[in-house]
Amino acid sequence: MADVQDLFGRLPEAGPTRAANRRKVLLAVAIKSGTQADIAYRTLLSQATVSAAVRELVEAGLVPGTKERGKIVLSPVNDVGVGVHLGTNHTTVVARRLDADFDQVTSRVSSEGVSRGWHRALPEVRQMIDAAIAGTGGRRSDVFSLGIAVPRMINPRTGGFTQPILPPWREGDDPAGDLGAWLGVRTFIDNDANLGALAERTYGTREHAETVVYVKASTGIGAGIIVHTSVLRGHGGMAGEIGHLTVDPNGAVCQCGGRGCLETVIGADALIAQVHGARTRNGAPVLETLEQVIAAAHARDAVCMRVIRDAGRILGQSLAQLCNLLNPDLVVLGGRLAQSQLLLEGCRESLQRFALPGAVVENPQFVLDSSELGTWAEAQGALILGLRGMEYAGSNA
Ligand SMILES: [Zn+2]
Repeated sequence: MADVQDLFGRLPEAGPTRAANRRKVLLAVAIKSGTQADIAYRTLLSQATVSAAVRELVEAGLVPGTKERGKIVLSPVNDVGVGVHLGTNHTTVVARRLDADFDQVTSRVSSEGVSRGWHRALPEVRQMIDAAIAGTGGRRSDVFSLGIAVPRMINPRTGGFTQPILPPWREGDDPAGDLGAWLGVRTFIDNDANLGALAERTYGTREHAETVVYVKASTGIGAGIIVHTSVLRGHGGMAGEIGHLTVDPNGAVCQCGGRGCLETVIGADALIAQVHGARTRNGAPVLETLEQVIAAAHARDAVCMRVIRDAGRILGQSLAQLCNLLNPDLVVLGGRLAQSQLLLEGCRESLQRFALPGAVVENPQFVLDSSELGTWAEAQGALILGLRGMEYAGSNA
């Protein structure tokens, strides 16, 4: 059985560019199989370069021989890619043999997130990773790559948290270092909205959308921005921090130190508080979680429906500004709040009202939709990040 880990050992000597190109092609195929044209589009390599790299991979037994227009897949390998989403109130782990299709992941989900601190969460996260790996038929030593998604800003240069590090995360917490050392692989970490955007762009049905905005609406609000195949991170990893746009200069103080940030108005705590106030007055039972509010809205509870639809309208106002700035083809709503269609409806109303017509209403390319990957997007994006990161780890080796 071929083994991705000893790629360099199995291939003939080559110059650094050729070696980097075939590594890039191999990892692109591990992320998602596709035709030579697909792989050229994703890697920004020419079709001739992809074709030459594929020939070498076929000779090495890493890719079975393929017809010119056929799909390029990996030969059977033992290697496993892992993606972990460390939310505040939930944890999601996905694992996949790299020769399997991207949707053939085994997964573990827990309603226990990092809300009580990273070091209290770590033992359960390790158990979940072990269980997900076992589900692929593999062992811990088969793990080739690990990516982590966190709802915090990550400095793209250092891989560490960008200040201010908001609770429950604390200075010195190092999930990539802790899990990477435990698994024995170099580990990559990024903001979860960025990785949700990466997964939607890669695994959704609109892979050719040029500019993509993915909004994660959950405990907090964040956005990931993709231009072609690149995630726009900004100097300190702050790009897309839509949750801290000011929407009410006289509003509540935010945990970031700002006042009236979008998150103080439509973050989970704010929505639960609004529902709580109204239901206390009308004597209905108290709802304590975002999931309960969403479920009640599905059951046509008038208060919860109003709260979520209005949250969509307010989100839409901020997104209208973003659409005027970036003119995206595709805006995807993800995160737990997006499980309610009411959010999408409210958002659509505001986009039509507040965005430039040419950016949205009169743009035939423009699509606003809810996530195709649902609550798996961020963990799937983390798995992609782990594989993409190995490309750069390899080129530095
Ligand atoms: Zn804020």
